[in-house]
Amino acid sequence: MATKLASRSEHLYRRARELIPGGVNSPVRNYKPYPLFIDSAKDSRFRTVDAEEFLDYCMAYGALLDGHAQAEVGEAVQKTLARGWIYGQPTEMEVELASLIKNLAPSMEMTRLTNSGTEATMHSLRLARGFTGKQKILKFEGGYHGAHDSILVKAGFGASSIPNSEGISKDVAKDTLVSRFNDEELTTKIIEDHAHELAAVIVEPVMGNMGPILPEPGFLESLRKITEEEHVVLIFDEVITGFRIALGGAQEYFRIRPDMTVLGKILGGGFPIAAFGGRREIMEKLAPLGGVYQAGTYSGNPVSVAASLATLQSLKRRAGQVFPALARTGEQLRRGMSDLVESSRLNAQVNGIASMFQIFFTDHSVTDYDSAKTSDAGKFDKYFHALLTSRVFVPPSQFETCFLSTSHTDDDIQLTLEAIGSTLTHLSA
Ligand code: PMP
Repeated sequence: MATKLASRSEHLYRRARELIPGGVNSPVRNYKPYPLFIDSAKDSRFRTVDAEEFLDYCMAYGALLDGHAQAEVGEAVQKTLARGWIYGQPTEMEVELASLIKNLAPSMEMTRLTNSGTEATMHSLRLARGFTGKQKILKFEGGYHGAHDSILVKAGFGASSIPNSEGISKDVAKDTLVSRFNDEELTTKIIEDHAHELAAVIVEPVMGNMGPILPEPGFLESLRKITEEEHVVLIFDEVITGFRIALGGAQEYFRIRPDMTVLGKILGGGFPIAAFGGRREIMEKLAPLGGVYQAGTYSGNPVSVAASLATLQSLKRRAGQVFPALARTGEQLRRGMSDLVESSRLNAQVNGIASMFQIFFTDHSVTDYDSAKTSDAGKFDKYFHALLTSRVFVPPSQFETCFLSTSHTDDDIQLTLEAIGSTLTHLSA
């Protein structure tokens, strides 16, 4: 029997595994039998090193709202590069960017730039501790806020949490409390019980890291009310939702003003940059003004800042068209998917909002971590691989979110629904 020639992706993966743990620089990128290695990308598609084209709904895990290799961003970066790419000194562009962020999300009266969402959430939590003089923080089960110690914990619902990764100090995990998303009663009780020691509540206003899960009406409002009453800093982690569900993020969409906000992903139009910001009196606790230390050699580097300015200026200019169009296309895709689920007679749910969507293989409606976990991850894996065969790429996990971009055309959506339709028929057979 002739042996099948390995693809270039497979070949690269074998080499990568010897040199890079798991062959990838972020664990979510690994899937079986091996990840596709990418050669280039433009608009709604990427091209692999084996010269195969895929329609992309991962969009770099939500970093791209306008699709791959958007010209306006590329030009801004190239112009900046011609003038040097790092100074270790402030630039005018940083002032423009902080001002634009404040203009789009008025709760961010002051902003600090970082290089990743992980850094930004880590520093926002430290700042909340420094500002309140309290130690503990509260997160929601299934919420993801980056890969730093205090936030990688498992639930204990009001009791001490335990680390969710080896290598994390139990003492650090003890200071992180966990509640259930959309559970107003439990959350209020935990906040009231721990108000004297609780510095901050951090929440993804629309959950994006266990698939998209919407807040039930009143949930975010009650969170805002109780945190205000108990002098607890409310941090919206808008790394995914910022500039995605509305120009001003979830805080604009749901009309809630958090004390602090974390931005990332779309903020940089695909370049590494993130930000945390909020009320002036909190932000002024940061060094050099205050006693909370935070720093970064690459923070505010001109290349990322130029990409960010170009992205936000373009979105601001086009907002009246971009966000309604994405909402319409998202709705069309989700409705199409729900119809296909219904005719396949599979137990599955379609969740999402604006340009976020996911299918969950479960008969429960998915409103929190427990209901998300009832999904059949094995079935999702088959779905993922079947779509891959149809040259449609979605993030390779039941608990990620798929992202539309403005570069996805009506034909792309049609093609996607056909691929999903035949996949679901195959799965139900
Ligand atoms: N917060 C949220 C809501 C995220 O989705 C992510 C990344 N997926 C992060 C924080 C961490 O961002 P980064 O990967 O840039 O460190």
